Amino acid sequence: MAQGKHARRERVVCDKHLDAEAIGGVLGRIGRSAQDFKPSRPYRGEFSHDEDFSDVLQLAWEYEVVLVTADSKMIEKALRFEKQMPRAESCLRGVLVVPRDKSEQLKSLHRFASGEIVAVASRKGDAVPKSLYDVEDYNVALDLRRESPLVVHLCECD
Ligand SMILES: [Zn+2]
Repeated sequence: MAQGKHARRERVVCDKHLDAEAIGGVLGRIGRSAQDFKPSRPYRGEFSHDEDFSDVLQLAWEYEVVLVTADSKMIEKALRFEKQMPRAESCLRGVLVVPRDKSEQLKSLHRFASGEIVAVASRKGDAVPKSLYDVEDYNVALDLRRESPLVVHLCECD
């Protein structure tokens, strides 16, 4: 059956300090907070002292869904996370960076879900994600604090 590409996902993973229920509500999914849900498989990379790797990214990787965070350093961490995994299973499913303020967070996610935030390809001819599913299928990061976020490709697999 459909795995990875075009698989339909019903959850979204939220960073520890975010309101997962409210974010899930805006995105039409079940929000899972990395505060309350732990990965079932241990993180095996070299940054195990950092919960962003061992808890947050590991959970998003395990669920194979997008990660919503207000921590802009998470994009860099997602790139490092994948580099340390075996290539065949390294793929995350995208990262969305939102503002720190809760009502601004929900607003920016709503605007993205409504197609009001238009991402910009970082390289000419690259596909631009237009939905949450695209973010997951293309495994890209977007900084939704910007009007026209640059698409950051996270995949290390190809
Ligand atoms: Zn990949």
